[in-house]
Amino acid sequence: MTECPKCGGSDMAIILYGLPSEELLDSKKVKEKKIILGGCCVSKDNPKQECNDCGWRY
Ligand SMILES: [Zn+2]
Repeated sequence: MTECPKCGGSDMAIILYGLPSEELLDSKKVKEKKIILGGCCVSKDNPKQECNDCGWRY
């Protein structure tokens, strides 16, 4: 999905869980907020994407 179902914005970020590699932390996608690091605590209810416009997650 590339559009936010709430506000229709296209500035969606993917939320990644687990321990990020140094390469990932330094990547352009993280700096541009295309990837959000969700930490290493994973539950089945954790959202996978977040809208950078309205903060909506799912
Ligand atoms: Zn949104």
